[in-house]
Amino acid sequence: MDQPASPLQAVRARIAHAATIAGREPQAIELVAIAKTHPAEAILPLLAEGQRVFGENRVQEAEAKWPALREAHPDVVLHLVGQLQSNKAEDAVALFDCIHALDRPSLVSALAKAMDKLGRRVPCFVQVNIGAEEQKGGCPIADLPALLAEVRSADIPLAGLMCVPPAGIEAAPFFALLAKLAADNGVSGLSMGMSEDFETAIMLGATHVRVGSALFGARG
Ligand SMILES: *Cc1c(COP(=O)(O)O)cnc(C)c1O
Repeated sequence: MDQPASPLQAVRARIAHAATIAGREPQAIELVAIAKTHPAEAILPLLAEGQRVFGENRVQEAEAKWPALREAHPDVVLHLVGQLQSNKAEDAVALFDCIHALDRPSLVSALAKAMDKLGRRVPCFVQVNIGAEEQKGGCPIADLPALLAEVRSADIPLAGLMCVPPAGIEAAPFFALLAKLAADNGVSGLSMGMSEDFETAIMLGATHVRVGSALFGARG
């Protein structure tokens, strides 16, 4: 095989390979390039290569970086992947095109209010605490049906389910469980898989993979 010319091409080739194994179209998988902690200079080469879908985990960091980058590239699509405080909901709705960490009723209310006020419906993934970890964000599995019902009745566009499996152990069972929860609840999108495990996630049905260090190198 030819050497890929860039980290972006390498990741795209790996996505295509995993999709092919799974009998899926590579275009059915959205690569969200997670740029958190990386300055604009690190993002520019990816923009030059045609990447348009990016993710950040903090509202303030994104507000500092993206307005200028978007002036040159108005077609950038920006995802928020980190935990969101309710008091930042309006800032998040104003800046982001997709939110991946909707995990509690109070945030449903805050986001619905912000979307009404700004006249802008931003699709949201409901984050599931798939490993039942105490310190982790995400809705407990038992509460998922009720939270999904609240999202739907608040008229928040539901993008799918999202998870970050426990660190240091095999992620595949957690991805499979998220896919089952999505199927059980009539949800189609699956935001799962990061640099270490995105191919596994794709084989188990991921529609959005969130890849940072494989594209940008290690975070400082
Ligand atoms: C940082 C982050 C990623 C990307 O992680 P890498 O291991 O660098 O690919 C994905 N999802 C979330 C929620 C993150 O915070």
